[in-house]
Parts: sequence; structure tokens; C-alpha cells
Amino acid sequence: MLINIYKMKCDLCGKGDKAKNLRCCTKCYNERHNDIIEIIYRREDEKIVTHIFSIDDVKYAQMLLNELEGANIVLDLHGVLDTIDPSIKLPFDKKYSVVVCSFVGKFSNLRMVARKEISSRIKSDQISWGVLIFKRGNRKIPEESNNFKEVGSKAWFVNLVGPALFFDDSEDHVNSALSLGKKLKVIKINKCDNVISLFTKHNIVEN
Ligand SMILES: [Zn+2]
Repeated sequence: MLINIYKMKCDLCGKGDKAKNLRCCTKCYNERHNDIIEIIYRREDEKIVTHIFSIDDVKYAQMLLNELEGANIVLDLHGVLDTIDPSIKLPFDKKYSVVVCSFVGKFSNLRMVARKEISSRIKSDQISWGVLIFKRGNRKIPEESNNFKEVGSKAWFVNLVGPALFFDDSEDHVNSALSLGKKLKVIKINKCDNVISLFTKHNIVEN
């Protein structure tokens, strides 16, 4: 009988064996289970780097976010920015800083994929910087998921960086951002939408 070796390897490091009932190895689990946000940005020496912060380091994450270019526009990655080729310039004015915020499973392979994707879009100057976040309300309980602002959630990030525009395709993320009650334009992207033309339509220059 053939055994799929790949499936038994850790999704995070690709080296260790998956621990029982986990998607990663024990080492990665111990190192990563307190992760709250991962920030991907271009350092002064032009290198694109990733900083991972745990729940105990939230204030340091906030310090780094303060040092980065302000986030005028926040885009979701899956179903929004990833519908557009990384080489395409976004139809926003150069003076606005566009950042990406993506929810991914802490221990998932998607986390690695999203990190690479964000890096390549920083490299092509499509976006300024990006973050991965790992907390989301339980979508089986809409009252919870539509008002989810816990540390490490998308609404928490949006509240922290205070953009003028926020684009997302997930109902719970859109509703949670709206529940912040901020002066913030939240645009829900639907499956068949032409994302680029929605970007153009909902321009930040309105006042
Ligand atoms: Zn591992």
C-alpha cells in the first residue's frame, strides 16, 4: 500500500512529521500557537522581511505598524487582490498606501502561500506592505462572527491602522469592520465582481 509521505509532513516547516490531530509538527505547534499577527514589509535595505508577533508582543507589533507607511486602503487577499495579477498597477492614487490583510490558518500551508504572494506583490510595488492574521469569529454563530473584534482579528487590525477604505469578500469580515462604527468605507466584493473597476469606482477622493 502506498502512503502519501507529503501529507504526513508538517505544513509549516515541511520537515517535521505532523503531530497527531495537528496540521503541523510539535515543534512548529509550540513555536507558533501564540502567533497573533505576521507583518510582511520592505526593510530600509530593500529586503522584504517577515516579522511574527505573539500575543505577548502585541505592543511591539503596534510599534512596527506605526513605523510603516500609513494604511489608507486595506484589501483582502483571497478573492480580492489575488484576482488581479501582481504586475498590474492598482488604480489608486500614488499618495495612498495600499496594504493587504489576509486571514489564514496559523498552522496551514495557505499561510506560507499567502506570505509568498504578499512578498511578490510588495516586490512588484503593487502594495506597500501586508499582514497575516489568524483569528476569526465562529461563522456558525453569526452574532459572533459578524461582530468579531478580538485581538488578532481582521477588524482589530482595521481598527488599529484606521484606513479610509476596506475591501473584503467575506460577509463576517465586512460586518465586523462595519461594527467598529468608524468613519470607514467598507466595500463587499462579490464573486463575479470586476475588482479593478470596483477599486476605480470607490475612490478614496470623495471629499
Ligand atoms: Zn513543522
